[in-house]
Amino acid sequence: MKKLEEILKTWEPVIGLEIHAELTTLNTKMFCGCKLEFGAAPNTHTCPVCLGLPGALPVPNRAAIESIVLAGLATNCDIEKHSMFYRKNYMYPDMAKNFQTTQGPIAFCMRGHLDLDVDGANADERYGLADLKPGESADNITRTEDGYVAHVGITRIHMEEDAGKMVHIGGGEGRIAGATHSLVDYNRAGTPLIELVTEPDLRTPEEARLFMQKLRQIYLAIGISDCSMEEGSLRCDGNVSLRRRGTTELGTKTELKNMNSFKNLHDGLLYEICRQAQVLEEGGIIYQETRHWDPTAKRTIVMRVKESADDYRLFPEPDLAPYDLSDEFIESVRAKLPELPDDKAARFQQEFGLSAYDARHLVEHRSTAQFFEACMSDAERELGSAAAKLAKPLANLAINDVSGWLNANPDAVLDESPLTPNRAVQLVQLVADGTISSKQGKEVFAAVIEEDADPKAIVEDRGMQQVSDTGAIEAVVDAVLAENPDKVEQYQGGKTGLIGFFVGQCMKRMQGKGNPQIINELLANKLDA
Ligand code: ADP
Ligand code: MG
Ligand code: ZN
Repeated sequence: MKKLEEILKTWEPVIGLEIHAELTTLNTKMFCGCKLEFGAAPNTHTCPVCLGLPGALPVPNRAAIESIVLAGLATNCDIEKHSMFYRKNYMYPDMAKNFQTTQGPIAFCMRGHLDLDVDGANADERYGLADLKPGESADNITRTEDGYVAHVGITRIHMEEDAGKMVHIGGGEGRIAGATHSLVDYNRAGTPLIELVTEPDLRTPEEARLFMQKLRQIYLAIGISDCSMEEGSLRCDGNVSLRRRGTTELGTKTELKNMNSFKNLHDGLLYEICRQAQVLEEGGIIYQETRHWDPTAKRTIVMRVKESADDYRLFPEPDLAPYDLSDEFIESVRAKLPELPDDKAARFQQEFGLSAYDARHLVEHRSTAQFFEACMSDAERELGSAAAKLAKPLANLAINDVSGWLNANPDAVLDESPLTPNRAVQLVQLVADGTISSKQGKEVFAAVIEEDADPKAIVEDRGMQQVSDTGAIEAVVDAVLAENPDKVEQYQGGKTGLIGFFVGQCMKRMQGKGNPQIINELLANKLDA
């Protein structure tokens, strides 16, 4: 198959996402009082309502309505005061009622948007970016210094309920194919679920991944879901089609299921774009179908041909009264909105003088953003206004070292780790004042976590103090130059790359403790003299 870069010259990919989030932070289900609990013994959290027994009447969970309004406000949606629930009819054993309670044409939240910051290598997938200068706009993007901002429309966020869970016994990998029998667990049936649908505004797999990531950050910040992609509390379907560059009519789309990680979402869409391009270029047609991304085989396979909306015979739910949300209710929810990631990034830039890039990456994870702030207040307590110059190194520590460590140790909890804010401040200070080099800083970082010790003590115990005494370094530099007259001659004859050799020799004599900046300066002075 052709590479994306080649395909983009002829075809424009169009992507829209449907993202389901379970409201896991609520105590009870959507229409009954059953407890919400992941991993409980099968069928221990059920009742006549969520089992769909005849005559049982649903009662909506007010806290779930608050959660979806919060989600709508956090994603710039209009909150619809008047909306209602519908029945989406289908028969499958995981839904004992034989219909899903969901919303119709008008959802609680309509017409929102998110702006995505795409930078660095992530921006490379966007076609035609090089033609724009910073500040210039085309389609839904605006070029920035290090990438672009994409404006992505949100069609709606509606409220619905989850189905139960089927377990197929006897087949391979829990699949239904080859199974001898199936079991059903209704604990999940009736779990409050919100589904966000985007406009077909995304153009690259990377934008899709970033949208999902940003939405996850927002949902975590407002506390409506634990957003675990492994446990399925955050799920994403990717819709994708191609159209000839320069045309506006949408092509036929396929829908990818099983996008249970950011990487799967990106890779699945990328594959599907390449597959569709090949089909179209060979004169074939794309069928509207649901496909499954198989990350191991690295391909998508057909699951089913799309059913039409009519098949569900959607009709208003007669057991639930239409909603009439009051202004007071909406305002009381708005008052609960915490600081959102974008606002936090803007504040970090303003308050601590961080670059837009650093601020944006710092707020990607709530724990690292919180850690950075705790470090800054620690530094300010001890150093007053002098703390300002530690903002950049502390941000780097949080974005690179701390995030890297958390990624490598998914079970680690930063708050309970040996790396306290106070130790982090000590560490960056030791580097900032030249006591240790930045390379040694990495070693001390690892040692703090490993040994649960203070950076100062580690540096002392290991005798790591960097030698910054110019006199002492000069003596070493002189000795190295005197020992290598041939290399000095070559350097002065134009082989300036030899500087690395001289630095290395000086470092070796000083057991790696010489201040590299001073060594470089002294060498340059003497060699270029
Ligand atoms: P369906 O009825 O198949 O669920 P919708 O119109 O509800 O389709 O759209 C579902 C998602 O697919 C939305 O995110 C939408 O933006 C996206 N979408 C719709 N048409 C296309 C298309 N031709 N190509 C890519 N994405 C599309
Ligand atoms: Mg749909
Ligand atoms: Zn129940």
